[in-house]
Amino acid sequence: MAASRGVTMFRLPPLPTIGEVIKLFKLRAVKQLSQNFLLDLRLTDKIARSAGNLKDAYVCEVGPGPGGITRAILNAGVTELLLVEKDPRFIPGLQMLSDAAPGKVRVVHGDILTYKLGQAFPNHLIKNWEDDPPDLHIIGNLPFSVSTPLIIKWLENVSKRDGPFRYGRTQLTLTFQKEVGEVDVTVVHFTPLVQPKIEQPFKLVEKVVQSVFQFRRKYCHHGIRILFPEATRLEKAEQMLMLADVDPTLRPAQLSMFHFKNLCDVYRKMCDEDPSLFAYNYREELREKRRKKQNFKRTSDDDWI
Ligand code: SAM
Repeated sequence: MAASRGVTMFRLPPLPTIGEVIKLFKLRAVKQLSQNFLLDLRLTDKIARSAGNLKDAYVCEVGPGPGGITRAILNAGVTELLLVEKDPRFIPGLQMLSDAAPGKVRVVHGDILTYKLGQAFPNHLIKNWEDDPPDLHIIGNLPFSVSTPLIIKWLENVSKRDGPFRYGRTQLTLTFQKEVGEVDVTVVHFTPLVQPKIEQPFKLVEKVVQSVFQFRRKYCHHGIRILFPEATRLEKAEQMLMLADVDPTLRPAQLSMFHFKNLCDVYRKMCDEDPSLFAYNYREELREKRRKKQNFKRTSDDDWI
């Protein structure tokens, strides 16, 4: 600990650099696991700063790897840092960091997709949803293969106010890689809204959004069609777009939040009128068709023999 102008700052004791840790523990980045390591201290500090004021905060870092961002988070003066890392090769290096910051770091060898973050922090952090966010942050430089399922899981947690959002509107600071964040590396900071923009069940919103983006380069009516069984597809899709006041020739990326809200609200009404509609699954219908076609082909071949 070092004191500066009356403010107590936490400073890690001298440690090998991240580059040296990588050499010491022979931590080769595995391309198949989309691993790449941030060694630039300006970048790791910038990511930690993007999370906001971390002084005395509780933080979970997802996929710390050799620990570049981890050090920046610790230097920001957090109360507790939970590290969830899937690859066992990184655990000894992270344990070394934990020893350098006694009582502050918990190292968990686990998978963030299944790890129960909702039980990982003390109950005194819990805030009402409408209050300011709790002093709890999730930070991570995610491999892109994990970022998509993880963010979908967390969005569902937000809607149910469970998992890491059991504590309130927990803030996320995530580094997305190419495509998901559009440029090479993008730091995105999320704070859940008090009031959702679309007041419909998560699974319904997910189904509508997924269907619209199924054909991301085509007009949005292509995606809307697959929400409906073949027999009524064209007619129902047209009806849905008209009631939602959405131009069928917009591309998925051109639709606004307002468009999606209208589409979800109209689809909800249609599902309420026809309770079998929500269970309809376009992919299953396709699979069933293919199965029938194959069976038919097999039967015809047998007849020939
Ligand atoms: N945070 C480090 C950095 O910025 O240098 C490493 C970033 S690397 C892109 C992603 C890290 O996430 C790797 O350490 C990888 O082992 C870890 N990881 C991948 N999938 C994970 C999962 N499901 N749960 C926890 N960690 C995971």
